[in-house]
Amino acid sequence: MNTIADVLAVAREKISISEAKLLLRHVLTCNTAYLEAHREEELSDYAAARFADLLKRRAAGQPIAYLTGLREFYGRNFAVSPPVLIPRPETELLVELGIAKLSGQPLPRILDLGTGSGCIAVSLALELAAAMVTATDISPDALAVARRNAADHAAALHFAESDWFAELDGECFDLIVANPPYIPLGDSHLSQGDLRFEPPQALASGADGMEAIRRIIAAAPRHIKPGGWLLFEHGYDQASAVRSLLEEAGYVEIEQHRDLSGIVRVSGGRV
Ligand code: GLN
Repeated sequence: MNTIADVLAVAREKISISEAKLLLRHVLTCNTAYLEAHREEELSDYAAARFADLLKRRAAGQPIAYLTGLREFYGRNFAVSPPVLIPRPETELLVELGIAKLSGQPLPRILDLGTGSGCIAVSLALELAAAMVTATDISPDALAVARRNAADHAAALHFAESDWFAELDGECFDLIVANPPYIPLGDSHLSQGDLRFEPPQALASGADGMEAIRRIIAAAPRHIKPGGWLLFEHGYDQASAVRSLLEEAGYVEIEQHRDLSGIVRVSGGRV
């Protein structure tokens, strides 16, 4: 028999019950209340096979967000798939800070470097209606996901396939944001959990994890309007190294902000 109760009972031996319900809700496109109220309902063969497949993939460690194709970020759903990093809740801090820097400013120009799913760029574009947002990524596959998210949310963004600033000659912005790769190559976190399945170039950057950050700090001043800001996310243990880099590069009013876990997670300054 393949009732909702049956398939959940099988699933909970392999994965957590909350994840099992999430995957089943995805297959049946229903909510939790429906699952509870229809425990004796039979699944179609198609639904049962799809659920069995998702269960197998989740039990093998594949991220829930890639299986359902969705992740919530800053109150909105974003399409996610293996070419892009799965948006993290701590990255919402970057969006909050960006909004605070620019609110009230007429027609601000924003650049999101390494946009991935586009979660930061789309959120900023929707929260700051007057903003003109450019989003870049080196990966055309990632840009395709970001374009879809922008279209789904009716956010008008400008996209560019670019290795950091390479294709942005002569362009200047009021705010540059980035959630760059910042994990050291070979770090043990890369072989754990969701990270095993995410794009390596979205996660790791050089032996100390700071290669992308160094490039961004060095090149951003040529692309920031006078008085404009650079703000970026970094690793839990990189705050003091990042501060030194910003100071050496001549940034002023350097700021460092803690995420909800109390970790200094976003740093930046103005030029
Ligand atoms: N900007 C995207 C995010 O914050 C992707 C970041 C990345 O791939 N490192 O989720």
